[in-house]
Amino acid sequence: MNHETVTEPAPDWAGLDNDLLNTADAPRMGTDADLARFAVDGVRPERVVFPGSVPQVQRVMESASARGVAVVPAGFGAHLGLGAPPGRPFLALSLVSLNALVDHQPANMTLTAEAGACLTRLQAVVVGAGQWLPVEPPFPDRTSVGGLISADLSGPSRFSQGTVRDLLIGVTVVRADGSVAKSGGRVVKNVAGYDLGKLYCGALGTLGVIVEATFKLRTLPEARAVVRVTCGDMAGAEGLLGRIRTAPLEPSFIELVARLPAAGSGYAVVVGFAGAEEDVADQAATLSSLVGGDDRLEELSEQEGGAVVAELRDTPALGEPVLGLKVSVLPARVAAFMTALEDEGARNGSTMAVQAHAGNGIIRVRVSPPDDRDLRGWTSAAVDRMRAAATGLGGTLVVERASPDVKPVLDLWGGPPEGLELMKSIKRTLDPKGVLSSGRFIGGI
Ligand SMILES: Cc1cc2nc3c(=O)[nH]c(=O)nc-3n(C[C@H](O)[C@H](O)[C@H](O)COP(=O)(O)OP(=O)(O)OC[C@H]3O[C@@H](n4cnc5c(N)ncnc54)[C@H](O)[C@@H]3O)c2cc1C
Repeated sequence: MNHETVTEPAPDWAGLDNDLLNTADAPRMGTDADLARFAVDGVRPERVVFPGSVPQVQRVMESASARGVAVVPAGFGAHLGLGAPPGRPFLALSLVSLNALVDHQPANMTLTAEAGACLTRLQAVVVGAGQWLPVEPPFPDRTSVGGLISADLSGPSRFSQGTVRDLLIGVTVVRADGSVAKSGGRVVKNVAGYDLGKLYCGALGTLGVIVEATFKLRTLPEARAVVRVTCGDMAGAEGLLGRIRTAPLEPSFIELVARLPAAGSGYAVVVGFAGAEEDVADQAATLSSLVGGDDRLEELSEQEGGAVVAELRDTPALGEPVLGLKVSVLPARVAAFMTALEDEGARNGSTMAVQAHAGNGIIRVRVSPPDDRDLRGWTSAAVDRMRAAATGLGGTLVVERASPDVKPVLDLWGGPPEGLELMKSIKRTLDPKGVLSSGRFIGGI
């Protein structure tokens, strides 16, 4: 693995313990169970620390920086496996005790919360004002504000609502050296100069420890409808997606779901509408007129629709697949990539659960290989072939999940992205000693 070269002293764990514990304001230290819970790719942290205030986060970072200790920031720790395995022994810094809802301004439609606040709790507060934070990460009850931003999690409504990056208007971080940095603020238009807060979106904790964030909110729609169309084959689904794209429709999401190999009616196109009641009904009717004769259309009740949306939201995170991939292609190429996946499945004997935000061109694939394989060699070759299919269509493929025994042999990110040198220099500026999640990000950052 090509880690960024940084000169770091040997970690002084005893010195760190002394700095953190011999003070009147000591943070809570994790138990043995916490060491297991915050393991990253099977590697347990040396310490788990739960700071309960920003000064405590600062003290952890100051000490870690001075004592040569690597830090992996965390929320609930459910998705820490994203990125490369940790290159050296580390401390897990979980923000879950820093979880206050700081400010909700219904009139300005903004929400400020500490990084450890869980998304479900925040949604429950703002819904009282007829508002929502329009992100739908898997398991919102286990998603912290910091994890949401750092893992750049979104869901089906990304098509109409954008991503966390579009909603984040202010962020406060504790930097690697323990200093506090703020970007943006609590009003919607207050960024003069570079909008540095956006840098933390999807940075996987490599640039700073998020301690507080402010988001724009949206008004809850008056009505919603969910329509599911089951198609006999990929060609049927592709035709329908094409007609939806060019029709006078404004869906809130367009999802394509498939299990491969597809037995019979293996493809479902699920379309959501949200807005004024009459408009939603009109749009659902327009969609019905686009459905082909062999396809089966179901207009779901509100309750069924809610359950389907929750399933679409959570499914990519379910179970322990040997391999979880995120592919990004142009929306018009989703069908071509699905066809490539069908060919790959037929060739390698795996089963796959596929879910695409078809309107955005983001495809998540969970691959279960046949049992009797050399998993490392099999998985590595399968990733290479599927990545070649994605890049052949002008897209990219990232490995989001892989079992710890397989992950070290995989190329998680694909070739170096444009701007890698600039990214490395941003990392060096914000974290010169390479304390934060070092080596876990693209290009060994
Ligand atoms: C493909 C996929 C697979 C998933 N698999 C599972 C699963 O198997 N089980 C499950 O329960 N959930 C899973 N999830 C969903 C997951 O529960 C949460 O949505 C996600 O983990 C965020 O939770 P968290 O806040 O605990 O962040 P964590 O999982 O703790 O961290 C996520 C990332 O954010 C960084 N980070 C966290 N907090 C901060 C901070 N304050 N400052 C800086 N960086 C920070 C971490 O270093 C890490 O890179 C999955 C999600 C996806 C998209």
